[in-house]
Parts: sequence; C-alpha cells; structure tokens
Amino acid sequence: MPAKEREFRLSHSRIIVIGAGVAGLTCALELSERGFGVEVIERRPRLGEGACSWMAGGMLAPWCERASTDAAVLTLGEPSIDWWARHFAGTVRKGTLVVAPPRDAAELTRFAERTHGREWCDEAGVADLEPDFAGRFRRGLFFAGEAHLDPRRALPAIADLLAERGVPIHFGVDVPPGDLTVDCRGLAARDVLPDLRGVRGEMVAVRSRDLSLSRPVRLLHPRIPLYIVPRGDGVFMIGATMIESEVRGGASVRSTVELLNAAYTLHPAFGEAEILEIGADLRPAFPDNLPAVRRGPRGLLVNGLYRHGFLLAPAMARQAADLVEMDNADLRQRRSA
Ligand SMILES: Cc1cc2nc3c(=O)[nH]c(=O)nc-3n(C[C@H](O)[C@H](O)[C@H](O)COP(=O)(O)OP(=O)(O)OC[C@H]3O[C@@H](n4cnc5c(N)ncnc54)[C@H](O)[C@@H]3O)c2cc1C
Repeated sequence: MPAKEREFRLSHSRIIVIGAGVAGLTCALELSERGFGVEVIERRPRLGEGACSWMAGGMLAPWCERASTDAAVLTLGEPSIDWWARHFAGTVRKGTLVVAPPRDAAELTRFAERTHGREWCDEAGVADLEPDFAGRFRRGLFFAGEAHLDPRRALPAIADLLAERGVPIHFGVDVPPGDLTVDCRGLAARDVLPDLRGVRGEMVAVRSRDLSLSRPVRLLHPRIPLYIVPRGDGVFMIGATMIESEVRGGASVRSTVELLNAAYTLHPAFGEAEILEIGADLRPAFPDNLPAVRRGPRGLLVNGLYRHGFLLAPAMARQAADLVEMDNADLRQRRSA
C-alpha cells in the first residue's frame, strides 16, 4: 500500500467524500455545514486536474436548459443560483441572452415555446443588453434570472471554504471506498454504477480584446447550438459539443471548426481572437440524463450530473446530507433502544 494511502487510512474517522469535482466539494461543504466531520480524498495531485468540472462552462441556466431537459432540472436547479451566490462571490447574476441568425429565426420561436422565465427583446433590446451585438440580431430572448460563474475560480473558492471549516482535501490519494463514504468519483464510479455513461463535450477558450459580453449568450442553430460564457479579461469559453461517445482525448478538428464557426457567426470579432485552449471531457450521465443520489454497499453515490454539474450539485448535496442525517438519527435511535 503506498505511504500516502496508509497515512490516510490511519487518520480517518469521519465521513469520507471521494472526488474533489463539483459534486464532491459541494457534498463536503453541505455535510460540514450540517455539523458532520468530513474529509475529501482526490486521486489527482491538484484540484481540477482530470475533473470534468474543470472543463465546464459554468452556466447556471435552469430556464434555458428546460428547453431540452426534464422539469426536474428547473426545480432542482433554480435554488442553486442562490446557493452559489452565497458561497462564491464570483457568481454573476446578469441573465442569459439567446439569439439566432436570421435564417434560423424559427429556432428562437421554438425555444420560446419550450421555456418560460424569459422575455422577448427587439433589436434595440438586444443591443441594450450587449452593445457589441448592435445591428446583428433582430430579436432575442432574455432569461433575466439566470447566472454564471467560472468553474476554475469557483472550485478553489469552495476548497478554501472547506479549509476554513477544517475539512481537509487529501490530494494524490486513490483508495477504494471505505465504510462511511459519499462517492463522487464522476465517470470513474462505473465500477459500482454500471448504467453510467460518458457524453463527450468539447470546448474552446479564446481571448478577444475587440469584444465585450456581460453574460452568457446562446446561439441557436439546428445542428450546432453554441454558448459563449465571458470569463473576464477578454477571455471567453465557447462550448460545447454533446456527442454520444466515450472516446477520450482532445477535441476533434471537426468539433473545433464548428464551434469556432458558430462563434464567428455570433460576432466576426471572434475571427481575430487568440485561441487559449481546446479541451474535451466526458460528462457522467445516467440513462435518463438526470442526477441521482443512490445507496451503495458502502455508503452513498452522488453521480450522473451530465451537463448540469454546477447547476445541480447543490441540490444533490442537500439530498445526500438529508440521507446521512436520516441514517445517523436511525443509528442513534437503535443505540438508545
Ligand atoms: C465541455 C463541458 C461543458 C460543461 N458546461 C457546464 C455548464 O455550463 N454548467 C453546468 O452546470 N455543467 C456543465 N458541464 C457538466 C459538468 O462539468 C459535469 O456535470 C460535472 O463536472 C460532473 O462533476 P462530478 O463532480 O460528478 O465529476 P468530476 O468533475 O469528474 O469529478 C470527479 C472527481 O473524482 C476524482 N476521482 C475519480 N476516481 C477517484 C478515486 N478512486 N479516488 C479519489 N478521487 C477520484 C476525479 O479525479 C475528479 O476530480 C459541462 C461539461 C463539459 C464537459
């Protein structure tokens, strides 16, 4: 057994959360806030390395997502916006703007029919929200209640909150689940969750000094819908493909070209942008594309966050903590009987 593993096993006597992606960190924080002693173990040496959560756009967009997902995503996701705003000061509540090129204007009407929590804006309204789009789109849909964050700032912020509460994260430790665990290993948990599958997502990060956006913008397109999330300092995340494939490795040329083409359609200034990163990962998904907290032989399994990791992790953390509290109450009752 490697030294680090031995050290860890000797020291633990609390609830162990396995995996420091968004699911694991939010579960650890929720459990700690409810008074449980918690430790997190992460097999990688650094936060975010190898985690699907590091690749995410960080959109907190329950109303937009309702256009293509189950109502549960809206019910569970809406309260998460407040959760993130309470726990991460970098949460930006400026809504989402949805537009379509003139030839795909019917897509906008279809999107409006499948969603609520939005208002129509005309050309001037689009330009009021995003002045760089002046004259580019005749109509748009504005989802004022939505928010966004930068996952690469949000995860370290949650890790800091955990550290302040005395919750350690043991990096570089890869142990099989022990007794009281909350397993948040993402796609790596397929050994105990055989119905989990990977849905490939590819993204591109660029820097443009010629363009400024205040909020995520979605471009509707029948074949390659795209979103762009501003990260500040001229950086934009362009995402994301949704491919039923478990092939690992970097983004394909085809996906990259399509994402960049769509960004160019959104605004030609993207043509001059500097490419900073091209990335890909597999989203962990159950057959119904909804997340779940399940009981396993050694504890709880929190998984299947699919394309809604940041949006739904707080709700999953609450469900997991409710179950841990229930089990603890049962145990106390049995002991006192
Ligand atoms: C391109 C792209 C864009 C996305 N955009 C968004 C978005 O805008 N909004 C949104 O809400 N969601 C988005 N998502 C989805 C989101 O990223 C995922 O739902 C989420 O990251 C899943 O989180 P997780 O914690 O379950 O898994 P992960 O983030 O993969 O975390 C699992 C962690 O467990 C660790 N681990 C694995 N095995 C072990 C072991 N044996 N011991 C210890 N540690 C272990 C891993 O190293 C990893 O750190 C996007 C995804 C992609 C790919």
